[in-house]
Amino acid sequence: PLPPRRQGECLAEWSVTMNRILVTGGAGFLGSNLCARLLQNPENQVTVLDNLFTGRKSNIEPFLQNPRFRFIEGDVKQWQDIPCDQIYNAACPASPPAYQKSPTDTTKTCIFGVLNMLELAKKYNATLLQFSTSEVYGDPEVHPQVETYRGCVNPIGIRSCYDEGKRCAEALCFDYHREFGVKIKVIRIFNTYGPNMDPEDGRVVSNFIMQALRGQDLTVYGDGTQTRSFQYVDDLIEGIVRMMNDSRPDFLGPVNLGNPGEFTMLELAQKVLQHTGSQSKLVFKPLPGDDPTRRRADITVAKRELNGWEPRIALDEGLEKSIAYFRTLV
Ligand code: UDP
Repeated sequence: PLPPRRQGECLAEWSVTMNRILVTGGAGFLGSNLCARLLQNPENQVTVLDNLFTGRKSNIEPFLQNPRFRFIEGDVKQWQDIPCDQIYNAACPASPPAYQKSPTDTTKTCIFGVLNMLELAKKYNATLLQFSTSEVYGDPEVHPQVETYRGCVNPIGIRSCYDEGKRCAEALCFDYHREFGVKIKVIRIFNTYGPNMDPEDGRVVSNFIMQALRGQDLTVYGDGTQTRSFQYVDDLIEGIVRMMNDSRPDFLGPVNLGNPGEFTMLELAQKVLQHTGSQSKLVFKPLPGDDPTRRRADITVAKRELNGWEPRIALDEGLEKSIAYFRTLV
């Protein structure tokens, strides 16, 4: 059953001439980068809803004095009545160690979170942009991954709380659209890195860079031949904003947003060592269960539907920018 609908106080309307935007998970890595971009437009008012489970107050600190920004510390799993025109639903722990820490809560966040946001979109005739993931493809047999590929996900594995949660969230988006006419947009985000990543969240880019900067061994899981395509966060944000504002109203997605460059974890480790100038060594650790062996975004649809969108920042340049951010944290 759904959690009880708390009759939350309806937040005061902001000026209706402004674009009222709700970003769930806005204190997280992607959410906070999105807020920075949205606030550049003086017609946007941005409300962040975040329970700070993995999001960090420091990520939104720069916006707190902005009169067009407000922060609500709250949980997307609970009903919140927030008048809005656009919703970006980014709330969910996203790194494997984080989402596996409380797996049932991860699934609930995916499902109850998107249900609450779809109800909100229905109530205010707002557009909901759902942050989905390349994880819906699981350990893919089709390479590179196209949106029409239906995936190879283990429904009972340690990643399924996130993978199946996000898959069901996509299903709910499309059913709300078909059944109630709710305006939806669905993006599938491939591995993304850059400033505002939590240095301790256990992802490969943050782990390798922090380890290199601290002079610790770089932890390669498995033999390091598994691949990912790594996208710099600014490229993703550009794609997200285009999907919300510039795509055809009847283009709902899902659309892949990722960098088609494909690298093994060994190649990534070498690049991190090169760009940090670190003397660290590699140390090999067991491969976690159900870790996808390869992943690469096919972005044909994104290019076609999002005005020729494609990533502009190559891995070497993005790593330089990211290392500058992580250096401030060491
Ligand atoms: N990985 C690694 N060392 C680390 C953290 C991750 O070799 O310290 C590997 C992990 O096993 C996976 C890849 O890097 O194959 C990407 O992991 P990440 O958690 O960043 O993202 P995801 O697996 O969700 O794509």
